[in-house]
Amino acid sequence: MFDVVTAVGSIKSAIDIAKVLKDGADTFDKAEVKLQLAELISSLADAKMQMAEIQELLLESNAEKKDLLNKLNQKEKIVYEKPSYFKINNDNSKDGPYCQNCYDANEKLIRLQGGKNDVWTCNQCEKTYKGSRYVPYHGNTSFRRV
Ligand SMILES: [Zn+2]
Repeated sequence: MFDVVTAVGSIKSAIDIAKVLKDGADTFDKAEVKLQLAELISSLADAKMQMAEIQELLLESNAEKKDLLNKLNQKEKIVYEKPSYFKINNDNSKDGPYCQNCYDANEKLIRLQGGKNDVWTCNQCEKTYKGSRYVPYHGNTSFRRV
């Protein structure tokens, strides 16, 4: 931040010198104009140097940001286990299930509700899922085609 403040300061003094030059254009002699121009160039050179420093800092900061985003994205893995998604955390623990419909459409992890008899509902899109442990009401496994 300090570099931005100094750079703005340098540009401001360059503008001030340019104003002095403009206002005194008719009254200054050659030596005075030369002196003011030298100061103007010096201020602009300072500003340029400070801008280069700022650019370097920005590049560093962007690289850091990219690194952090990568780390953040690696934090958890999403796996599809029919019919829903699960989150695999860094410590290999499993979290879920999450709505397949919502994740595929909006990349939103919406936790499914319920779970009784492995039947799950999404409160967002109101879809219902039957997991692999679902048993139809009469316990007749020939009805498992759902
Ligand atoms: Zn959903």
